[in-house]
Amino acid sequence: MTDSELLALAHQYGTPLYVYDTESIQIQYAKLKRAFKTQTRFFYACKALSNINILKYIHSLGAGLDCVSIHEVLLGIKAGFEADQILFTPNCIDLSEYETAMQYGVHINIDNISILEQFGNIYGNSYPIFIRINPHIYAGGNHKISTGHIDSKFGISIHQLRHIERIINSTGLRVEGLHMHTGSEIKDADVFIQGLEIFFDLATHFPDLKYMDMGSGFKVAYSDNEEDTDVNLLGKKVNKAFEQFQKESNKSFELWFEPGKFLVSECGHFLVKANVIKQTTATVFVGVNSGFNHLIRPMFYDAYHRIENISNTKKDKERIYTVVGNICETDTFAWDRKIKEVHEGDILVFRNAGAYGFEMSSNFNSRLKPAEVMMYKGRAHLIRKRDEFDDLLRNQIEVI
Ligand SMILES: *Cc1c(COP(=O)(O)O)cnc(C)c1O
Repeated sequence: MTDSELLALAHQYGTPLYVYDTESIQIQYAKLKRAFKTQTRFFYACKALSNINILKYIHSLGAGLDCVSIHEVLLGIKAGFEADQILFTPNCIDLSEYETAMQYGVHINIDNISILEQFGNIYGNSYPIFIRINPHIYAGGNHKISTGHIDSKFGISIHQLRHIERIINSTGLRVEGLHMHTGSEIKDADVFIQGLEIFFDLATHFPDLKYMDMGSGFKVAYSDNEEDTDVNLLGKKVNKAFEQFQKESNKSFELWFEPGKFLVSECGHFLVKANVIKQTTATVFVGVNSGFNHLIRPMFYDAYHRIENISNTKKDKERIYTVVGNICETDTFAWDRKIKEVHEGDILVFRNAGAYGFEMSSNFNSRLKPAEVMMYKGRAHLIRKRDEFDDLLRNQIEVI
């Protein structure tokens, strides 16, 4: 999408505004499809961005869906995914949420010994399951998004293999899939190979095994000096290791991945308006009409988003700004950023805002959530209305 198209959308729909370009999703999906062999399937981790239109679009590309809550499962079914295309990968839920998912026939992934045992006692081999393994690999861009390390709450430790086997042997559980998800923003292909080799070692312990799910962690470049995970290189290494393993074990498996931000980060542009330019003794602030209530990644993960002034189309010099939001708390999007000269009223864009952007937004400070627009087949469509004042009161019950 061009900046002038974005600017036009900002004027048409107002700001703050999330804009998603479906073409970018298709390009990212094609990269993955090309890089891996055909026995590989991709399940979009929809917690990154779950607008029903995005789900329908990703379904139309042929991907499956990775869901972490029962309501994500319901959204997936509403968007047209078949049960076999949905993997339910929650953590710390009770058995009843699994049971609801089972009514829809989706794949389910169990991530702790307690539920494994309860499940086995009731259902035995009547419903196949996945098990989420914690392989104790530390990887990822940030401690908060690293999930495979020893202190992590996720998965069943690989050191508890004997315990898992005991439960399987005494309940007859049918384990069709093994799963791991070691974190987000993993650039190094060898981390995935390390994970795969752990699965290869485990495979002999699970005679019903059909699926090896490597989760995600594909990195996306948020700044100019970063790079995406090289999926071609990763694909080559993974394909080779996987083929060899299948030959040696004389069995065939499906390899699954669960990309979230790799598919939808780049598709998203978050448009805001510069409300005030505020010069203090030390800094020039640009105060915009949004805040961490709309895009929490900078404050929550110290994440970097490129910020550009799309109203300033001159070959203007850049100036140094600190970009802040309007929330009554420290609310900094970026420190000391070079941006083309900003005037009050200018439209700024945050790039790579598709993943964990709108999805993590809230009504903090009683501010309204932004609207969402999707570019689809060359046309812009409003896919979520901007909140209105009534939305703030929707579920409140006035008792005095
Ligand atoms: C969040 C999540 C993903 C997606 O991670 P990304 O970094 O967005 O690709 C995949 N699988 C599981 C189980 C997750 O929780």
